[in-house]
Amino acid sequence: MSFRPEVTVAQSEVHEDRFSRLRLIPWWDEHRIQNTRVLVVGAGALGNEVLKNLALLGFQKIAIVDLDRIEESNLSRAVLYRTSDVGRFKAEVAADAMHALSPQATVQPLVANVLYDCGLGLFHWSDLIIAGLDNREARLWINRAAWKMGKPWIDGAIEGINGIARVFVPGAPPCYECTLGETDWAILERRMSCNLLAREEEPAGRVPTTPTISSIIAGVEVQEAVKLIHGLPTLSGRGYIFEGLNHTSYVVEYTQNSDCMSHHSFEEIVQLPQRSAELTLLALLERARQDLGQYEVVLEFSRDVIYKLSCPLCQEEQELFAAVGSVRYDQGLCPRDGRVRVVTTMHNYSGEAEHGDRKLDALGLPLFDAFIARAGEREIAYLISGDERHVLAAAQPRWEA
Ligand SMILES: [Zn+2]
Ligand SMILES: [Zn+2]
Repeated sequence: MSFRPEVTVAQSEVHEDRFSRLRLIPWWDEHRIQNTRVLVVGAGALGNEVLKNLALLGFQKIAIVDLDRIEESNLSRAVLYRTSDVGRFKAEVAADAMHALSPQATVQPLVANVLYDCGLGLFHWSDLIIAGLDNREARLWINRAAWKMGKPWIDGAIEGINGIARVFVPGAPPCYECTLGETDWAILERRMSCNLLAREEEPAGRVPTTPTISSIIAGVEVQEAVKLIHGLPTLSGRGYIFEGLNHTSYVVEYTQNSDCMSHHSFEEIVQLPQRSAELTLLALLERARQDLGQYEVVLEFSRDVIYKLSCPLCQEEQELFAAVGSVRYDQGLCPRDGRVRVVTTMHNYSGEAEHGDRKLDALGLPLFDAFIARAGEREIAYLISGDERHVLAAAQPRWEA
């Protein structure tokens, strides 16, 4: 890129505001930055730096997903948190801090686990997703959700003084799942016992890292986001690796896996104005039967749901409705005799009387989620958009305030 001194000279006559130096970049499009909706998953070491960069660059439509509260040990790697914030939710403090950095920004905090509490509607709402996570399970889920909704996502990972940033664009494999090897799958499978109850998660946030490497990798993540929305070349399908010891950095190429389960994008997304609390499974199925012009329709859920625990010893049954993975192993034991109970799951509905009256918000699935209707080769994804106002209350247009 050439140095253009004439721009600097002309600057003396131009109105100086917060973003005037950014506008000097020849391809910079302020309106794109302002109008791009960014879903940031994780408000830890990487997430803090990602959010700081988004605020400084002028991004104005942001949602932050994080389940955890701030601990004192986070403070050495979190520019948005203060000592007085210890004990508060990361997502909420991060949103407040972003407001302070960028008063024009609308920031929606979501105190939520991305695996169980975030509907596919959030991915549909966003233009791109930026992750600052420390586990494969959440990355894999984001990868599949992003592909389904056709949204690019940017991943970052750090350990010690090393890190990696990568960009995954739906429709342009390799994707994140393509990069997983045998060791990754073994770690992923360890989390779930054979009867689909979850083992304790590895202690989160204990990865040894520094604020310097999170700053470097989050810097690359957000810079890739800026390039992506301007249509400039990105790391799509590749990874940027930074080794801090010798300041070696290089780009790795990945190979597409022909058996990859992630490569599916919804062709037809119908946004329903109703809320999950207003629709039963049967009502949604009837709607899908009409739209598809067929009676044999299957409604698939966004994720598998445990709906029953049965004790083989005392025969007691418990109705549950909770996402697979969200029920811990000890919760699966019979409260009477301690026996491991049999888990019954469901992942679709095709008209059985048993669950037809059940409202969509009583299935153990998150609000603002999608249900996929299939009949033969045809498929329609129904987004329960009536939930959006509830889930993204802060991100609603100002006239609603
Ligand atoms: Zn893939
Ligand atoms: Zn029992």
